[in-house]
Amino acid sequence: MPPSLLLLSTAVLAWMCAGTLARLLPKLCAEANLCLLAWITGHLAGGALLFGLALHTWTSAPIQLKPGLLLGLLTMTLPPALTFALVDRALRADTQRQVAQWQRDGLTGLLTRRALMERAGTLRRSADGSGIAVILLDLDHFKCINDRHLHSGGDRVLVHAARQLQAGLRLTDLVARIGGEEFCILLPGASSAQALELAERLTTEARAQRVRMADGSEQRYTFSAGCAESAAMPDDDAAWAGLLERADRALYAAKRSGRDRVVPWSTELACTQASAGEHSSSLPTPNSAPPHATGSALPSVFA
Ligand code: GH3
Ligand code: MG
Ligand code: MG
Repeated sequence: MPPSLLLLSTAVLAWMCAGTLARLLPKLCAEANLCLLAWITGHLAGGALLFGLALHTWTSAPIQLKPGLLLGLLTMTLPPALTFALVDRALRADTQRQVAQWQRDGLTGLLTRRALMERAGTLRRSADGSGIAVILLDLDHFKCINDRHLHSGGDRVLVHAARQLQAGLRLTDLVARIGGEEFCILLPGASSAQALELAERLTTEARAQRVRMADGSEQRYTFSAGCAESAAMPDDDAAWAGLLERADRALYAAKRSGRDRVVPWSTELACTQASAGEHSSSLPTPNSAPPHATGSALPSVFA
């Protein structure tokens, strides 16, 4: 057997063994300082390989297929191959962690605003002619919950509310936390009537929820919601922005008219807001405080 073929087949064998071992040793992957291990074993094994080849070329001795030689080659190639497999595995896990980090909100586990917009892009590409409806929800007087139970208490309510929303959706629906206490639901293929029905159900369910707080008390919460639909899947960013803005205007109206209610977008609503000189809050970003209405009396939930 020519030496190069022997080396190659041994390396492939070592590679396969390494891959299997890496899968069998997840604990080692998690705990070892893989980079250092890769560096040391890679250099040692590479050096040994070069030394062996140089020696062979020098002596030009015919290579014979002996178990000892195979074992030697295996010892030279297995450590770097194994290390490479481990490093590769660790890097993949790291990439997956990073993707999960920007796609999922750290507190509630819901999609982030950015991930939702990415999914919206996918929906746009795979549009089958059906439209889409949007529901924007905002927890009412959430600041009062924070004031009473500190941020940790507010977080508890956020997690509970997020679970409640997610539990009420179809598998094809998407829900994201798009701001501090603001959520967005995309309902592919849903009509405005279906979106309104779902939003009514979610806000009714919210009224019945009780969140157990650290001091043993129970905290209630309510949502205001606005919904809008597009008869066809929006096919560009401007169309998406228009749809979200309509839902946002409806949410704005729900806040203005007393909170704890759902308002569907309508052309009359747009006319009323325009004549009253009101503007949409434009979709909130995680760091922006919403310009929703202020000054209405606190509902009994927060009294
Ligand atoms: P409205 O009914 O008009 O929506 O009133 P609101 O109190 O819900 O709205 P406001 O914008 O006045 O307050 C939102 C609060 O949400 C302020 C901010 O401190 C809080 N908040 C934002 N992000 C988080 C978070 O991650 N955790 C907690 N606990 N609070 C948050
Ligand atoms: Mg709010
Ligand atoms: Mg808000």
